[in-house]
Amino acid sequence: MGKIDRDEILEIFEGYDKEDLSIATLGSHTSLHILHGAKMEGFKTTVVCEKGREVPYQRFRVADEFIIVDEFKEIADEDVQEKLREMNSIIIPHGSFVAYAGLDRIENDFYVPMYGNRNILRWESERELERRLMKKAGIRIPYKYDDPEKIDRTVMVKFPGARGGRGYFVASTPEEFHEKIDLMIEREWITEDEISDAHIEEYVAGTNFCIHYFYSALKDEVEILGMDSRYESNIDGLVRIPAKDQLDINLQPSYVITGNHPVAMRESLLPQAFDIGDKMAEAAKELVPPGLNGPFCLQTMCTDNLEIVTFEMSARLDGGTNTFMDGSTYSCLLYGEGMSMGRRAAHEIKNAKKEGVLEKIIT
Ligand code: AMP
Repeated sequence: MGKIDRDEILEIFEGYDKEDLSIATLGSHTSLHILHGAKMEGFKTTVVCEKGREVPYQRFRVADEFIIVDEFKEIADEDVQEKLREMNSIIIPHGSFVAYAGLDRIENDFYVPMYGNRNILRWESERELERRLMKKAGIRIPYKYDDPEKIDRTVMVKFPGARGGRGYFVASTPEEFHEKIDLMIEREWITEDEISDAHIEEYVAGTNFCIHYFYSALKDEVEILGMDSRYESNIDGLVRIPAKDQLDINLQPSYVITGNHPVAMRESLLPQAFDIGDKMAEAAKELVPPGLNGPFCLQTMCTDNLEIVTFEMSARLDGGTNTFMDGSTYSCLLYGEGMSMGRRAAHEIKNAKKEGVLEKIIT
């Protein structure tokens, strides 16, 4: 099984009825505003939905067609792909789509045209590739330790895979690292085998900004469409307790994402925010053509020196875009009211269709 060649997808896309396109996605994560936005731009919409989870798509009236599966992962099964192609579907990927369809299948046997870049999805999932891309961009990222014995300041310890912060911990010495590893194993949040995969990076003290960008291949321009900060359990609850009680209470802090707050950045920081977005888009074009085609997100901390440090990226719609289903502080500047990230993706597809260059943005 070889990697899907872009030409194979373009050949399938050739056979589509371009006047009857459907925007399709997996019913989870950010699908509500992807589907809603696609309808606002005049497209038909299709949701691939796990049995029993249809209600939001019916009640919010965002999906024209339902493909009901027993399990989300069936989105990559041949019969579902066949249905999607028959409906002239363009898939919009998001975090749950990547998690359930799986990178191997997306790269090797998911023959449904996609808006985005199917090959860049691995780069956000594997930390070494992600760092390579961020280093190539030349943006500020946290210092990384290759050996726990070298820990000489406060570090954040992470494990591979999309865990939404589960199993992450803070340590300041090698001894503390080992103690907390044992605790995580006891809690069954990590396994013994995963210890060697621990990713140890400088803890960046600052305020969290997850910046939601859109790279338009048609305009060759990066837009900022929104920003959120994460709401994490239990750390955001713990910090509401006075410091002395935090020491008494027998709780280990954790960083499990449970929600998002919309946030506006101090205006003087915006040039930096645009600069790092532009640099990432340029680096991605070189390393993983056609680059960051569409939505992407940089998860950052802003320090008290007013430096933006990027500790993570998403190379597709990020969950924090749910904070602006009806537009944000930033998207209204460019598009007036009502521009969500999902709608912006559909808008790009509509523009590409109008200009007769859809093949430029399909992978
Ligand atoms: P992530 O899964 O990488 O988005 O991280 C989950 C959460 O862990 C973030 O939202 C931050 O609160 C925290 N975090 C991750 N990396 C760092 C870091 N290098 N310094 C400080 N906090 C971090």
